[in-house]
Amino acid sequence: MRIGVMGGTFDPIHAGHLVAASEVAYRFELDRVVFVPTGQPWQKSDRLVSPAEDRYLMTVIATAADERFVVSRVDIDRSGPTYTVDTLRDIRSLWGEDHDYHFITGADALADILSWREPEEALRLAHLIGVTRPGHVLEDPGFAPGRITLLEIPALAISSSDIRSRVARGAPIRYLVTPGVEAYIAKVGLYDA
Ligand code: NAP
Repeated sequence: MRIGVMGGTFDPIHAGHLVAASEVAYRFELDRVVFVPTGQPWQKSDRLVSPAEDRYLMTVIATAADERFVVSRVDIDRSGPTYTVDTLRDIRSLWGEDHDYHFITGADALADILSWREPEEALRLAHLIGVTRPGHVLEDPGFAPGRITLLEIPALAISSSDIRSRVARGAPIRYLVTPGVEAYIAKVGLYDA
């Protein structure tokens, strides 16, 4: 199989993430996309990240109706900071070593992965795909010809930070997130001011 691994904080998961995963699945002929919400937040000193269980449940709710999409707990069940090389090792050991893996994430986050923790090993374990908002530029790290692809996804004009601030000021988030995620945010009171 050709398997996508979609890593993100997903606080909350929004329509841009779903469009990005769907578009990458189409372009790279993926059979499955495994969404992996991050565990213990790190490099987020500027704000509190919502509890992992809330982010996990929103990801399950948002992806439930798409037969290509599944959600994994590997990052939220592993203690310590989330490193992509560990995510890929865990997913490969659960799903099998013989598949063709594609790790998908935001291009800014991809730049961090390439400057942290065993980037060569991460690139050996998966093809890396950085999905970008229009206009973003990522420098080629130079050591991985053909192992990194950038894809511009116009729907990524939607961002989790904008959704959080919209909820806090009482602005609508309808259509930016799925109806189930909208209901979950209201029920739990996530992002309320
Ligand atoms: P982030 O810093 O919260 O996000 C950076 C940017 O990328 C934001 O604009 C974000 O938009 C976007 N983004 C994040 N995930 C995305 C996705 N799956 N699809 C589309 N856009 C996405 O990044 P993060 O969430 O902490 O990290 C993303 C992934 O990279 C995680 O799997 C994380 O474990 C991994 N990571 C690994 C390392 C490492 O191994 N050293 C370092 C950094 C990140 P939204 O806020 O709208 O999503």
